[in-house]
Amino acid sequence: MLRIRSAEMDVCPIQGSAAGQRGPVRKRNSEPDGWGRINLEEKPMPVFHAATSRTIIPPGCAVGVGVTSGQHVRIINTEGGQVVDTWAFNPLQTDESLSMAHSRTATYHLFFRPRDQLVSNRFNPMLTILEDSSPGTHDTLHAACSAGSNAFFGNPGPQPNCHDNLIRVMADHGHELKTVPCPWNLFEHTEVDGQMNLVDRPAAAAKGDYIELKAEQDILLVCSACPSMIGMISGDSPKGAAIEIQG
Ligand SMILES: [Zn+2]
Repeated sequence: MLRIRSAEMDVCPIQGSAAGQRGPVRKRNSEPDGWGRINLEEKPMPVFHAATSRTIIPPGCAVGVGVTSGQHVRIINTEGGQVVDTWAFNPLQTDESLSMAHSRTATYHLFFRPRDQLVSNRFNPMLTILEDSSPGTHDTLHAACSAGSNAFFGNPGPQPNCHDNLIRVMADHGHELKTVPCPWNLFEHTEVDGQMNLVDRPAAAAKGDYIELKAEQDILLVCSACPSMIGMISGDSPKGAAIEIQG
């Protein structure tokens, strides 16, 4: 059993509205050319449930759930078009986490698909993909959006971002992360073109699409309904998502 403490006092890691000045210094390789502003409601939400059913991820927010080895978990695109930055940690030693680089090496796949077994940065099995009802585009190459990436792409200032979401969720539960692993960007539609460039496309997942995973060990799963408007990867606004634990 995972030791996940009660979370009644926790709040949504995202508070306040986007700020900062428009300044398109650099552009991600996307179409259409998308910058935008989001204005998220300040709304308390619980995080890090010992989830046994459905947990809602409000737009721009992150939640963490404990998943026991053998359980199945679905990450659901409740409204369609939402990118969900996803991390998994060993709850006993959070310097061990799901690794995109190690998983690409383990699977020899650039983008993962059903029956792939994803591993940690110590090559221990963490998740197996059981089913995917979406078009199957789940980026493994981009870093999480962050204050740094927003400034890099010309949109500085305090804004919600997945990097800070993860730090907050983990810190609220006693885990101080020294580094933020590259997330598994569920539903993010990244392509590699003929010249080996990365190209961003809007998430193609439809309302209700999901990916179902099996936990191969006890994990802390953190999912962030990405608030980034750079590249319009989640369309014109974040829409939220949900996690369902089964078994
Ligand atoms: Zn993000």
